[in-house]
Amino acid sequence: MSETHTDLLLNRMPPSLRCSRCGQLGFDHYDRSRQRIRDLSVFELHTYLVMDKWRVHCPTCGVRVEDLGFAAPYSRYTRRFEDFVARLCEHLPVANVAELLGMDWKTVKEIDKRALQQAFANPDYSGLRLLSIDEISYKKHHKYLTIVLDLDRTRVVWVGKGRRQATLEAFFDEIGVEVAHGIEGIAVDMWDPYIAAIKDRAPQAAIVFDKFHVISNYSKVIDKVRVEEFKKAEAEDKPVLRGTRYLLLKNQENLSPEQFCRLEELRSLNQNLNMVYVLKDDLKRLWDCTERDEAALLLAQWTQAAEESGIQPLMKFAKTLHHYAYGLLNHCDYPINNGRLEGLNNKIKVIKRRCYGFHDLDYFTLKIKQAAPRARSP
Ligand SMILES: [Zn+2]
Repeated sequence: MSETHTDLLLNRMPPSLRCSRCGQLGFDHYDRSRQRIRDLSVFELHTYLVMDKWRVHCPTCGVRVEDLGFAAPYSRYTRRFEDFVARLCEHLPVANVAELLGMDWKTVKEIDKRALQQAFANPDYSGLRLLSIDEISYKKHHKYLTIVLDLDRTRVVWVGKGRRQATLEAFFDEIGVEVAHGIEGIAVDMWDPYIAAIKDRAPQAAIVFDKFHVISNYSKVIDKVRVEEFKKAEAEDKPVLRGTRYLLLKNQENLSPEQFCRLEELRSLNQNLNMVYVLKDDLKRLWDCTERDEAALLLAQWTQAAEESGIQPLMKFAKTLHHYAYGLLNHCDYPINNGRLEGLNNKIKVIKRRCYGFHDLDYFTLKIKQAAPRARSP
């Protein structure tokens, strides 16, 4: 059998007298014990440092273990080995790192978690200006986390459990009144609990509704109308209406020539579907506006057309848009959105798969903070 590990005998002359609790020099050694501390591998062998670790008489703390410097007081791993484990965990699932290093997965996870806790121990909330706030589901049965992204520095600044008003208020509590009042714009979904928290704690911040969310809500309107029209249609027209969900929701440029012809046929056959389809493209133009007047006019025309259409789901949606108009117009002043958070969502899904089974929400939260593309300092 080939060797898998090696022990390096460490003879420290003289051993340290430094107290691991307070850092003072102790006045005497008390006793010692043999320690085996895992270090970075040498010649591909798992490598252990074997040494005497002393306890010292500290003038303040009494009898304490000495501060080794290269390892945390009670750790069986050197600091550089722990750093290595944490760096691997940034790219690999915990189970793979454990296998690679011949370690227990729980130990690997704890080392990674400790490193992340340290890295994110002192969050920097200074100068928060533009934010993106959204929820992600982390479990089935409507378990949500609220994620706050700093758009200026592209980093996750805060993660909280739930998606209620109180959830977001906890964020504002944490950053304090002064920072909260410095926030200029927040991209968010038309989600009333978040809106209420923002209006209460950062009343000066411009609320900007995310285009993706609004269009996705509108897609539900299109789908409702499609189902209703199908029910109403004469038997001979049903084949044209069947299976058209995709045609109506996809962007026109992504349709094949054949699909495009089917869409044209559908639109000429059914006036209501043609109406909701045309209004979809009109609605998207709202986010191209850079002037408030221009956006307000477009929105007014859109709402009027929708209200006069007689199509119930469309009229209801127009009412909603009218109610939330302020957050649509604010996009002209602060052209921000939740796109970066959406991008992060795929990474979070990977993390969720990796973390699944840990049942450790704190660890999951830390991994999300790590996953956000942080702006590198020059
Ligand atoms: Zn001490």
